[in-house]
Amino acid sequence: MSVIGFDMYNPPHTMGSSHGKARIIRKSYSEGSHFVPLLNRSYELFFELQNQTNLEIIQIIGGLMIAKKGANSLEGIKHSSEVHNCEIEILTSNDIKSRWEIFNPEEEMEGVLDLMGGAVFPENVINTNLNFSKEYGAELHFNTKISKWISDDNYVTLKTETGDTYYGDKLIICSGAWLPNLLKDINLPLFIERQILFWFDPINNAEKFLPQNSPNHSWEYEDGKMIYIQPNFGDGIKAAIHHDGYEVDPDKLDRNKINLNEEKKLRTIMKSYIPDLDVDSVRSAVCMYTNTPDREFIIDFHPEYKNVLILSPCSGHGFKFSPVIGEIAFNLINNGKSKFSINSFTIERLL
Ligand SMILES: Cc1cc2nc3c(=O)[nH]c(=O)nc-3n(C[C@H](O)[C@H](O)[C@H](O)COP(=O)(O)OP(=O)(O)OC[C@H]3O[C@@H](n4cnc5c(N)ncnc54)[C@H](O)[C@@H]3O)c2cc1C
Repeated sequence: MSVIGFDMYNPPHTMGSSHGKARIIRKSYSEGSHFVPLLNRSYELFFELQNQTNLEIIQIIGGLMIAKKGANSLEGIKHSSEVHNCEIEILTSNDIKSRWEIFNPEEEMEGVLDLMGGAVFPENVINTNLNFSKEYGAELHFNTKISKWISDDNYVTLKTETGDTYYGDKLIICSGAWLPNLLKDINLPLFIERQILFWFDPINNAEKFLPQNSPNHSWEYEDGKMIYIQPNFGDGIKAAIHHDGYEVDPDKLDRNKINLNEEKKLRTIMKSYIPDLDVDSVRSAVCMYTNTPDREFIIDFHPEYKNVLILSPCSGHGFKFSPVIGEIAFNLINNGKSKFSINSFTIERLL
């Protein structure tokens, strides 16, 4: 079997959804216990990749979710932990303050610490996987935009923007925020959301924001709305509001433009919970979430062509699943099935 991969930029790049140095990984999943078996495999594969290279791929530091007692986010983590035996600790507001003096939760808040929470490093993951795929014989074409594909169920034909044509038996489409451009025939209800990230240097206590001293932390500041923060892995402390962006066209998105009010909004939320971060940001980045209405992924064959597989590990939480989704894609495209339950990720549910 020979494999050809295409990307219209030169990955890892900053034009899509997989940049920004560190991504959160967590196991006791608040979004649903059905994600945990996939995560178990992702952790194995990330560690395997780390052992095969000398690069930093994954680091376990814990992940703390803080919200009002009884919040769905906290209950979701507890539920996943019960179903799949994930290791968690439940902490009162005072427990949190005495364990991490940089955090200042409200009295009625509670924390759940996922002991397997941590970070994965997207640029290293992408580079390593690309290098391995070349070593194993894949042919990679970068700065090559696919403008059209045709399938007749047995063969696919790909056309590039510059007029080249490629033929194959099977096709996997995983074009992130550009998925709608390559799937005009099925009109998926995807919402491409602009997402911004900021990096901060704290006013005080810099060493307490290092990964050996601080977990990732997410704060539900209003019902269902949260900010997330990662400790300083070398570029500053990364912070963002989760799902607060407007819809964008990925080809028209201005990746350099950030409104001052956007930073102000994040700082206003952060300053009571993490007073040391009430300071101007040192850096920012624009990225995109590719959201489905139910915030689940898409892992399914095209409804019409059984030799075309569509992947969207999207909705702002997919990077941690990238190795297991790669493995699932390999099994689906070669054997037509996967040992993992992927019923929540069908295309049919969206049509
Ligand atoms: C700011 C931000 C923070 C996030 N934080 C987390 C987190 O902490 N933890 C987590 O698990 N997930 C997180 N996510 C989600 C996760 O990073 C993304 O869902 C995931 O990386 C998306 O990967 P993708 O392959 O679908 O998209 P992308 O990485 O954008 O890849 C799509 C690729 O397709 C290429 N392409 C598109 N169209 C064409 C074409 N016509 N021809 C050739 N190539 C094409 C693009 O160039 C691009 O390289 C975050 C996302 C963002 C934006």
